[in-house]
Amino acid sequence: MMLIDILTLFPEMFTGVLGHSILHKAVEKKVVQYNVINFREYADNKHASVDDYPYGGGAGMVLTPQPIFDAVSALKENAGKTNPRVILLCPQGRRYEQCIAEELAKEEHLIFICGHYEGYDERIRQYVVTDEISIGDYVLTGGELGAMVVIDSVVRLLPEVLGNQESHMKDSFSTGLLEHPHYTRPADFRGMKVPEVLLSGNHKLIEEWRNKEALRRTLSRRPDLLDKIELTEQQEKWLREIKKELE
Ligand code: SAM
Repeated sequence: MMLIDILTLFPEMFTGVLGHSILHKAVEKKVVQYNVINFREYADNKHASVDDYPYGGGAGMVLTPQPIFDAVSALKENAGKTNPRVILLCPQGRRYEQCIAEELAKEEHLIFICGHYEGYDERIRQYVVTDEISIGDYVLTGGELGAMVVIDSVVRLLPEVLGNQESHMKDSFSTGLLEHPHYTRPADFRGMKVPEVLLSGNHKLIEEWRNKEALRRTLSRRPDLLDKIELTEQQEKWLREIKKELE
């Protein structure tokens, strides 16, 4: 079972996200355990303060090292597992991608540190953290939303979390491409028709259509992804056909 510890100043923010849908079902299936901790509890000063003014002056408050150093030590000791990944959510971190979710899904223990305010003391980054992750090139008010994004994308990859129906193997990015389009009933919705091949019952043709449409979609929306994967001969052929159709 994967253990996910989350250090935050706003534990209530996680109640909705971790308590519903697939992330919650994963707990019932005993695939994952979440432990949301207010790191203010680890502050060793009279007012349980966790931030202070930056040396050198400037706007905003900085998270002090002591509560986070002590909280991470205690969590490591409690878990008794070796080498958890200690992940700091941070706009300056490695940009988050599906391949990082796949990498993290192999771990037994993840500790997330959610920053707030102007930032955190640099020594946290240097001595406690193993990974810095940014969920995109924009600045959030805190790391909580980032941690939720990472946790959601990791937990859905854990064994038995998704049923067959929701398998992630063909999801966008897992294959290196964007996923093909989907249709459901009715076959004709106000004159807008489902592609004929999907109604044909011919599984080979349907699979072919899906593979080709995944390529078409990737070419039109994210051509950069095509440079990162090795296409099969068949895919190369389809890609040439698609490009020709676009001429
Ligand atoms: N002053 C910092 C800077 O310029 O790099 C930004 C601090 S931000 C207002 C407060 C916290 O939000 C950060 O410590 C981090 O935990 C979180 N955060 C903000 N943007 C993020 C992003 N793109 N990805 C992940 N976490 C982010």
